[in-house]
Order: sequence, then structure tokens, then C-alpha cells
Amino acid sequence: MKLIFLVPFLIISLCAMKGPLTAGEAPKGILIIPMPGEITVLNGTFVMNGKTSIQAGQDILVKAEQLRAYLSPASGYMLPINKIISGENLIELKLSNELSSLGEEGYKLNITNQKVLITAYKITGIFWGIQTLRQLFPNEILREAEVAGVTWMIPCVNIVDKPRFKWRGLMIDYSRTFWNTRHTKKYIDAMAFYKMNRLHMHLTDDQGWRLQIDKYPELTAKASKFDTIYHEPKEREGFYSKDDIRELVRYAAAKNIEIIPEIEMPGHTSEVLSVFPGLSCTGELVSIHPNGKGKVNAKEFCAGKEETFTLLQNVLSEVIELFPSKYVHIGGDECDKARWEKCPFDQKRIKDEGLKDENELQSWFVRRIEKFINSKGKKLIGWDEISQGGLSKSATVMFWRGGKEKIVLDAVNQGNDVIMTPTSHLYFDYPYGGKYTDYPYNGISTERVYAYEPCSGILKNVNPEHILGVQANFWSHIDRTEPRMDRQIFPRLLSLAEVGWTESKNRNWDNFSLRLKHQYKSLDFLNIYYMDTNN
Ligand SMILES: [Zn+2]
Repeated sequence: MKLIFLVPFLIISLCAMKGPLTAGEAPKGILIIPMPGEITVLNGTFVMNGKTSIQAGQDILVKAEQLRAYLSPASGYMLPINKIISGENLIELKLSNELSSLGEEGYKLNITNQKVLITAYKITGIFWGIQTLRQLFPNEILREAEVAGVTWMIPCVNIVDKPRFKWRGLMIDYSRTFWNTRHTKKYIDAMAFYKMNRLHMHLTDDQGWRLQIDKYPELTAKASKFDTIYHEPKEREGFYSKDDIRELVRYAAAKNIEIIPEIEMPGHTSEVLSVFPGLSCTGELVSIHPNGKGKVNAKEFCAGKEETFTLLQNVLSEVIELFPSKYVHIGGDECDKARWEKCPFDQKRIKDEGLKDENELQSWFVRRIEKFINSKGKKLIGWDEISQGGLSKSATVMFWRGGKEKIVLDAVNQGNDVIMTPTSHLYFDYPYGGKYTDYPYNGISTERVYAYEPCSGILKNVNPEHILGVQANFWSHIDRTEPRMDRQIFPRLLSLAEVGWTESKNRNWDNFSLRLKHQYKSLDFLNIYYMDTNN
């Protein structure tokens, strides 16, 4: 067994080199994803053993403990903290003001025969340095029980690294299929391993309401369940209690991941209307369809009724109190305005507010909600339709309609921030290949995701400061079991991790493919299913 783990390092020693690598020239034995900014491979190796200790200042002791929790189970070593055994090797974590140019997330990793040193300007960077260190060890370091017969050896390297984009996200749709805490934690673990830092939870939609709201217990009592006539398996329904969310937020924050809640409005709200039919234009009886098909009911709030805003503001107050994230996502997509056209309440609102049409009514709706969110010290994100009918300057746009990049250009030119999640590359419910209904592309392969360049085409010269980053979206109406969901997301998420982190000049598909093969074993140990293709 040992020989297998030695192979990568034999390759390294054959190609031992001095000086930074150039584009696409990652050393064959360095199998890290995402590829760091600068790597210098040195001669020699560091071997973690029973006498290795960890050293860290009081201000980052928590990261030292986290590092030990990562390395101890598989190796079986105690890794004492701040108890240096003279003459033996050590792993040191250290904050340094001199590294401010690497930003909040950047870090340096220097490995010699005797010492591993991770330095960073902020604790966030220390954590990412720890992830790189984990990836340098044999994949078995991810196992939760002691693994015999492995030499815990890593190559001597100097790495200087920082991310390209600050937003490197994944959206999970909890409405069409509910995913529990255990499953979500598994995703947080995997995201952190690949330096992804935003989990966007799509908590409400036509197919179910998934968050406890104290003021409206009816929402979860009724709208977290599918209508029994559809015979949906029980595990697909449910909701998060406030304690569940607090636990997830804490768990994610310890791993540099911020959770962003989404509460949909004004469209995609059948589930709320099934509980409070009076909030639609028609007041008709609405039922929850598990896959969004079936009889067409009202699916949007009436923008003319004050009761709509009373409910939304009460809900948002609880959401804002629960999630520490700077952002609240309010949906805003695919609102059918046909009912607004015929509704006396909406027509009165349009007249009273001096609006031109229903598009401006949606824009007015979003701005009213944004004012409320801002008054609580938070920022609003919405799907790109929030730009229809006029966009507030402080809103952040989540761009999804691939092919319509003009939306991004206009928003950025107006000074808005944008997060790139286009259907053309980053919709992970879409298939890897082949034709698909309502789907204009010939599959989204892992390579297609890898080739995604957010600032290209008409966005080539766009102000990059307003492109916050990239995010994959997973809608759960087709793949509704854990293995199927995993295979839709992995390994495409690894491509995205590199798109979000690594400068485009350092990205190279052939080299990535080699590293990806190595990472499949890591995914095995993270208990994640994946599509085993390099296409
Ligand atoms: Zn109405």
C-alpha cells in the first residue's frame, strides 16, 4: 500500500524545481484543487509522525484545534498543541500583518523537512491554508478512523495563494426536495475542502416552505408537506427549526462558509398561498404540487394588498434575526404578471404610485422590500428579473439567464454588484450531456464548467470589482435522492471551485483532469457520490 502513496512524491522528486511555475505548469505530484496562485516545489519531504506537534498563538488556537481534529483521526497521532518536543517536527499557524496584500482569505504555506508553517493576514486565510495542507497529504487523511500502513508524507513546497473571487457559492433547493442537516453538513465539509465559501439555501418555493417562523406556525405545519394525493415519500418533506439553522450557521462559519437564506417573492409562492389564499389576487384555493406541474393556481402575491407586506416583513424580521449573513435573497424570478393585470388592487397600486406597468410594479415591490431589509442593516440579493422595471443601485443581482449577459453589463455599468450563476454553465440540475427539454445547451460537462470565464464576451472589459463571483445552482425537482443529487453536483463543483479561486492564466484543463482523478478518492472519503467521468 505504501508504494501507491509514494508514487506522487517520486514524480515530484524527479521534477524538483526552483522558482515559481508558469501558466498551466503545475507539478505533476501536486494534486490540489483549486490550483494555488504560486507554487515552488523544493527538494525533500515532511513526515508527520507520533512526535509532531502544533503551535499557534492564543488568537488562533481554535484553528489549531480544528487542524488537529482534521489530522488526528486517520493518522492516530495526538498532535499536542503548544507543547513542543525539542528536536521533533511541528506545524505552526501564525497571523501576520505583513501579509495584508493577500487579503482576508490569502495565506502562505511553507513546508520544510522539519516544519510546516501557515501564515495569513486573517484567520480566514489560516483556514484555507489548512485545507491546502490536508490536500497535500495522502487522501486517506480524510478518513474518520485510524488508517494503518500510510506514511503521512508531504512534499516540501512554498505556496502563496489567494482567491480570484470573493463569492464562491452553491445554491441548494430545499423546497422541491427537503435535504436534512446531516446531508447539508456533508456539503459544507466538501465545499470547505475545495475553498468554497457561500451556501445559498433556497428555503421557500411553490413546492414547500422549509423554515420555522414563530409568527406563522401554519407555514411549516401545512406548507412543509406535499398534498397526500401525490404520494410523495415522507423524506422529501420537512423543514428546518430555528435551532437546526443556528447549528448549521455555526457549523458553516467554523469552515469559512456563510449561509445566505432565500425567501421567494413575489412569484413562486404557491406554498404560502396554500396557507393564506387571501394574499393572492384571486383568493383561489391553491395546492402544493411536488414537481410544479398540475393545475395552474395563483403563484404570486398580490402586490396591491397591504397584508402581503405585513406577512413578508414579519417573516423577514425573523429570518434576519436568525441568519448573520450580510445578505438576504428575496428571489424575484419568474413572476407571472397576468393576474396583476386584471387585479383591481394591483391596478390601484400602479395608479397611486405613478407606475408605468406591471414590470414597474414588481420593481416597486422589490424596492419596498429592499428598504425594509436595509433598515435592518442587511443587503438584498435577487434573481436577475429584479432589474426589470428599474433596479435599485444597492441591490445585488444574481445573474441566471445565460445568454442574456447584457443584463450584467447594464447592472454593472449602473454600479450594481452581480453574482454569476448562468444556466449556460452553472446549472447543476442540468445533465452532463445530451438533449434536455427546455434546455438550449448540449449538456454541461465538467469540462464546460471548467471553461467558464465570467468576464468574457461582452463582459470582457466590465469593472471586475462588481462581479462578486460565481455560484452553481442545484434545483431539486428531478434528482431527488442523495446519490443522484451528489452525482449532479460532483465533480462539476470542483471545476467551479477552481473557476472561482484560481486566476484564469493558471487554469489548464489537462492538468486539472489529472488532479480531478486524484480527488475522486477524496470524494469517496467525504462520502460523496460523483459522476465518474472526465468529460
Ligand atoms: Zn393583485
